[in-house]
Amino acid sequence: MTSDNSRKTNGRGRLFDSVLETIGDTPCIRINNLGPDHVKIYVKAELFNPAGSVKDRLAISIIEEAEKNGELKSGQTVIEATSGNTGIGLAMVCAAKGYPLVVTMADSFSIERRKLMRFLGAKVVLTPRTDKGFGMVQKAKELAETNGWFLAQQFETQANAKIHMNTTAQEILSDFEGENLDYWVSGYGTGGTVSGVARVLREKRPNTKIILSEPANAQLIGSGEVQQRNEDGSPSVGHSAFEPHPIQGWTPDFIPLVLQEAIDNEYFDDLIAIPGPVGIEYSQKLAKQEGIFTGISGGSTFAAALQVAETAEPGSVILCMLPDTGERYLSSPLFDSVPEYMSDEEEALSVSTPGYHMPPQDS
Ligand code: PMP
Repeated sequence: MTSDNSRKTNGRGRLFDSVLETIGDTPCIRINNLGPDHVKIYVKAELFNPAGSVKDRLAISIIEEAEKNGELKSGQTVIEATSGNTGIGLAMVCAAKGYPLVVTMADSFSIERRKLMRFLGAKVVLTPRTDKGFGMVQKAKELAETNGWFLAQQFETQANAKIHMNTTAQEILSDFEGENLDYWVSGYGTGGTVSGVARVLREKRPNTKIILSEPANAQLIGSGEVQQRNEDGSPSVGHSAFEPHPIQGWTPDFIPLVLQEAIDNEYFDDLIAIPGPVGIEYSQKLAKQEGIFTGISGGSTFAAALQVAETAEPGSVILCMLPDTGERYLSSPLFDSVPEYMSDEEEALSVSTPGYHMPPQDS
């Protein structure tokens, strides 16, 4: 009898009581075709979360912590200012748990994000892009105060870094048990990922170097300028080092309180600036050369990981966060180079055999 080496799977060995139980436990995947041979690079692919991003973790944490401490009552409306992934995560969690959700969002973020939130039952209130991230946060506050809604406050809430400490970081410890982990590379939006994971790595894996990255044209941390805050920790003014950048989900126009913990505790060993177009290039390369589908922030974090790789000792192991799926960017610059009709090469293929040609296109 010949042995059957066909691919087989066995199921997850458990049943899930709700979609919410499927959040987290995302895989760390080896990079095989990009990057130098003298290091091993892994990516932690957050696109495997049920609503496609790292922010599913934050969403379940905010809602469950608020339920526990009585801040959120059954059926109460939840509201948040979000550039998209938090809103999509919250929309998924609120749909599963029966809370109405309102999201405020600057109109510069991709159309898919708005549509996904509305598809999941949320209401999306757009704010002018000229008012930046600050404007959408103020709008959410206004609506929450006027209507007595629960404001999720992803940029200030303790529930943010806490979930990364309790899930993301624990997954990394467990998956790299008995393995080297020389570098962990991340970007920041709220800073929840870096603050939460770093709390644990600094204690349990003190030899792991933590590398943080930010957009080259919005180096809020790199500038050294201190963020002015209100009493609740929210920003009282925008940060002067901010400029609009294409790395959606990274670096808002202020330094969030959640991120401040990472700055104050020196939770990172190096800070790397990545230009948006480079992030776009590496998101495209991850798709084409590895089959790994991630957004612009994933490409940008990966570009930072490659910079680390260049000077890393032979045999070093690098883990890079990929925060979300590339499918969220169809109407953004990430897909600008992808034609809707056929490229010249595809047209040439079409006419290279006799049948089934498309009629000539009007140009
Ligand atoms: N990339 C994307 C696409 C995101 O949506 C976010 C979250 N805003 C991040 C990166 C950064 O994650 P964090 O908020 O935990 O710093």
